[in-house]
Amino acid sequence: MSDQGSANGAAVGVLEPDAPSFVSYDPAGGGEVATFPQMTAERVRAVVDEARQAAAWWSALTWAEREQRLRKWAGVITRGHEELCELVHRENGKPRDDAFLEVFLAIEHIGWAAGHARKVLRPRRVGTGLLMANHAASLEYQPLGVVGVIGPWNYPVFTPIGSIAYALAAGNAVVFKPSEYTTAIGEWIVDAFAQADPDAPHQVLRLVTGTGPTGAALCESGVDKIAFTGSARTGRKVMAACAPSLTPVLMECGGKDAMIVAADADLGQAADAALWGAMSNAGQTCVGIERVYVVDTVKDEFVAELSAQIQKLALKPGDGPGAAYGPMTMPSQVDVVRRHIDDALAKGATAVVGGAGSVRAPYVEPTVLLDVPEESSAVREETFGPTITVKGVKDVEEAVTLANATAYGLGSSVYGRRGAMTVARRLRSGMTSVNAVIAFAGVPGLPFGGVGESGFGRIHGADGLREFTRPKAITRRRWSTPFEPTTFARNPKTMTILKKYAMARYGRKK
Ligand code: NAD
Repeated sequence: MSDQGSANGAAVGVLEPDAPSFVSYDPAGGGEVATFPQMTAERVRAVVDEARQAAAWWSALTWAEREQRLRKWAGVITRGHEELCELVHRENGKPRDDAFLEVFLAIEHIGWAAGHARKVLRPRRVGTGLLMANHAASLEYQPLGVVGVIGPWNYPVFTPIGSIAYALAAGNAVVFKPSEYTTAIGEWIVDAFAQADPDAPHQVLRLVTGTGPTGAALCESGVDKIAFTGSARTGRKVMAACAPSLTPVLMECGGKDAMIVAADADLGQAADAALWGAMSNAGQTCVGIERVYVVDTVKDEFVAELSAQIQKLALKPGDGPGAAYGPMTMPSQVDVVRRHIDDALAKGATAVVGGAGSVRAPYVEPTVLLDVPEESSAVREETFGPTITVKGVKDVEEAVTLANATAYGLGSSVYGRRGAMTVARRLRSGMTSVNAVIAFAGVPGLPFGGVGESGFGRIHGADGLREFTRPKAITRRRWSTPFEPTTFARNPKTMTILKKYAMARYGRKK
């Protein structure tokens, strides 16, 4: 942050002349944004050890004290949004307005997590049943200690805050390793937290910087949980690194989200949403729409709508104010997008908009691919580019079958009127928006996460708070009875009573 200087010594460690470092670049122009230390396993462990002391202090605060500090953090981010959005634009490449949308959602999540932690996690009484009728039972959700958060680059504010805010609100300290492509943004977020509470005796949100090996070191550093967001391929490595110590993991991985367009859908709105879902953020959205299954009777009209809207809106990538979206953030992703388009065309698909010539690094122009065979990489693998496949289906039934025929299962969307909710329930994905795309991410009370290759565990909402806790069950004997069943001095009548009870309650034939 401007008033704290870059590479906050307390958070990152001062860059030493001969120590290994890495640079993050502006994906549009290629200029250097900042240089950071490539932290070693020893350094990571030292940060985690310090965070453990911070966790002890933080977890001993009251709910209200933590809420106040989290809200102050949201305040610093809100007041600094112009600087943060400029940095997101520079380091990630997305338009400034899209950066603000991301920041806005992140602030909303901080507010929700802060405001709901007590209600969701505080101790509560639980009914005991006949066997333990002389006991009181209670359940509470205790913080884990130190949570390691490993983040991606595509939503460098919204995505990590989805884990960080909920872990902090639940009473944990957090050690955050942002993506090497967006480390300056990660540093800004951590510095904002320190600035929100300058007199705090401990830093509960800490930064570690580096590439894959630093992430692996965080997994092996003794943290109490890893919240990972990234590709399924890296997710497997994270799980393997966490396995020896049985460190629990939350996996937020990729997706291949489908949209179903039914015959009674508003086609104009469906096309508008498909374009936003597929092309915004240059298609680099884990819950972006990558496949559309549209019922044959309205397929031609829908495809015509897509093309017309792309033309009317003059959808183009770029770095300037008129650009709909920015460059590909990670240079290597350009090759993936090119391979998927080429493979689809080679297998017989038609490019209705764009095509092979759309890929001009670092930008990719909008590309709509029609009738892509289901075995193509553009249908099977995460493309993460501003492309979309469209396929006609005979009915919604076939659309559901094809939408579910993927190893992923993150988000999905249904456009239609009658029966749309039933279709939504049948989609094998963690989240579905009806007559919208990605709406679930904007509702802080809803859990966010996937199934299959998209991962497991949940951020956001009450489930997202509980994800960073361990349920603690306590019983307390209130009085003794002459019918205690778990003693060697048991009264024989006890078992007679229990058997009678079991027969009366469960043993009846009808
Ligand atoms: P990635 O898997 O390449 O990297 C993610 C993070 O893991 C980075 O910080 C990276 O440095 C770190 N890492 C790399 N190797 C590691 C290792 N061996 N051990 C520990 N950490 C390691 O992913 P990415 O390219 O940064 O992000 C894009 C992916 O993230 C896409 O697949 C996208 O769909 C997914 N994503 C998912 C969600 C979600 O909520 N489900 C949100 C955003 C992005």
